[in-house]
Amino acid sequence: MKVRIQVTVESDQGEAQCVEDVAEFERGALQPDALGLTLAEAKALLQGVQRTIVAEQTTAYLEGHRPCPACQAPRRCKGHHQLVYRTVFGKLTLSSPRGYMCRCQTTEPRSVSPLADLLPERTAPELLYLEAKFAALMSYGVTVDVLGELLPIGAQLNATTVQRHLLRVAERMEHELGEEQVMFVEGCPAEWERLSPPDAPLTVGLDGGYVHALDDRSRKAGWFEVIVGKSLPDEGASKCFGFVHTYDTKPKRRLFEVLRSQGMQANQQVTFLSDGGDTVRELQMYLHPEAEHLLDWFNISMRMTVMGQMAKGLAPREVPEAGSDVERQLERIKWYLWHGNVFRALQGLEDLTMDLDDLEPVTEGLKKLRKAVHEFLGYITANKAFIPNYGDRYRHGETISTAFAESTVNQIVSRRMVKQQQMRWTQRGAHLLLQVRTQALNGDLHATFGRWYPGMQGDLHQEQEAA
Ligand SMILES: [Zn+2]
Repeated sequence: MKVRIQVTVESDQGEAQCVEDVAEFERGALQPDALGLTLAEAKALLQGVQRTIVAEQTTAYLEGHRPCPACQAPRRCKGHHQLVYRTVFGKLTLSSPRGYMCRCQTTEPRSVSPLADLLPERTAPELLYLEAKFAALMSYGVTVDVLGELLPIGAQLNATTVQRHLLRVAERMEHELGEEQVMFVEGCPAEWERLSPPDAPLTVGLDGGYVHALDDRSRKAGWFEVIVGKSLPDEGASKCFGFVHTYDTKPKRRLFEVLRSQGMQANQQVTFLSDGGDTVRELQMYLHPEAEHLLDWFNISMRMTVMGQMAKGLAPREVPEAGSDVERQLERIKWYLWHGNVFRALQGLEDLTMDLDDLEPVTEGLKKLRKAVHEFLGYITANKAFIPNYGDRYRHGETISTAFAESTVNQIVSRRMVKQQQMRWTQRGAHLLLQVRTQALNGDLHATFGRWYPGMQGDLHQEQEAA
């Protein structure tokens, strides 16, 4: 059989304005691979339909813009130039006429290009969205492959273009972000009291990850730090955020907008949990001075478990009793920390350090344990202001641990930015990619495009399903 597909464009009055053949194909005996349309046929079909529709739309538009808008006199034509416009369904070359501006508007010989003025960006919003979304989630190269495989866009995309477009989208987001402020909590306590009682505290987990630096001038020998976080409301979906703190000028505003999008009230408590690393510890104070800042119990517990295993591994034949005695001491220290008794925990750690110094023989395992205990002592000392009574909080159903922080780093940074080891990043590039990436992961990217291009609104369920 033979299939011919035609597009009919009708006027508002229902008259056929244009009938165009867009595709034609034949089918022989039915085989699984010949049932319905093939991808190649579908691409050709969509491209043909797109061309026909766009030709009609632009013709009608230019028709309406030929006369002078003020006096209706026809404008003199100055010539045509070609305008290349990329859409989800193919690259279009449009003829864009230029005319002289009417004398009733200017005495200077100035020209006007209605179509070029209508389409200042030469990429259709939906294509820009798809490029940004996929490039935020996977490499530029794979993005080009996937979009090229599924859409009739042929070889018009390349990794450099996609990267440029993603950065443009990110710049636009950054531009939209309001000014940085010292404080984002508005009003005063008297006003907050009049607000409805807030929900349970929002929990924000913060952590840092490292990515390869493009220039070697940055610190940490070819690496720089990326801060990521996840905000967990008591109910509803969590949202992640990220930034390069040595580049970002608005980290507080950034966090504020994330929390606000989750319905944070002015009188709502925020609890920050972090691993207590230097940068992150300073940042959480700075991001939200009024909030509660805690060392994530997960990090204490994990380090203690590792030391416990080292103690178990102390050669039992050579140092009988020593291993189990160390284990008991560690248990006691953990108990003090769980109850927020930092003073006794630090005392216990100092005692343990001295006991370990006296132990003999000095095995490799013992050396490792000494080092670990020494580092842990420093860690607890540095973070002592952020150690609450975890036990008490736990009994009251308050957050003591996120445990998500580590996986958040993996989710936000590693998969896209570190696993591809050959990728090197500028601070700006990494920061901007993170903005699009976190919006894509949070399922907010489509809504952002809908705000910029109202014609894209109303297709949100698709993204929510994907997220
Ligand atoms: Zn005029």
